[in-house]
Amino acid sequence: MDQWQWPVADGTRSLSVVGGQTQDSLAHLQRGSGPAVDLPGYDGQRLQLLVPDAAFSFGLYDPECGYKVDFTWLGERGRWDARYCHLSTYATLMVGQTGTAQGPHVHLALWLNGERVWPEEQLEFRALMESQLKPVFSQQSTQLALIGVGIIFGLLLLRR
Ligand SMILES: [Zn+2]
Repeated sequence: MDQWQWPVADGTRSLSVVGGQTQDSLAHLQRGSGPAVDLPGYDGQRLQLLVPDAAFSFGLYDPECGYKVDFTWLGERGRWDARYCHLSTYATLMVGQTGTAQGPHVHLALWLNGERVWPEEQLEFRALMESQLKPVFSQQSTQLALIGVGIIFGLLLLRR
């Protein structure tokens, strides 16, 4: 499987949530602009392409997408095409809120071998999200285990 890098450098590996709704492909489809995902970031936060050696070109201002970058590369599963929307300004890989964005974030649309796909359903993308979630989970498990051991010791002491 190809190794990807998270679009928002040092960003939280999660999808944006606005008004309680996760900004996933379903949410985008419901408002006629999907499938795509929105990823949280702050104004001016550095962006990186999903793969470092992709060929890319910056787009002129688009009323919906704002400033954008299109990029393409060949992976194990074929040809990928991707687009980031709402960049801060022209030809700069930074999070912004240009176009129809109502707050700073990056909008990611993805094509595999010419077909539009759901980014969050791709193994390469899921691996990124899970690689961040795992350490948090194991940390929580350790804490829970320690609390459990503490309770057992406490009960044993009380019975004396
Ligand atoms: Zn979006």
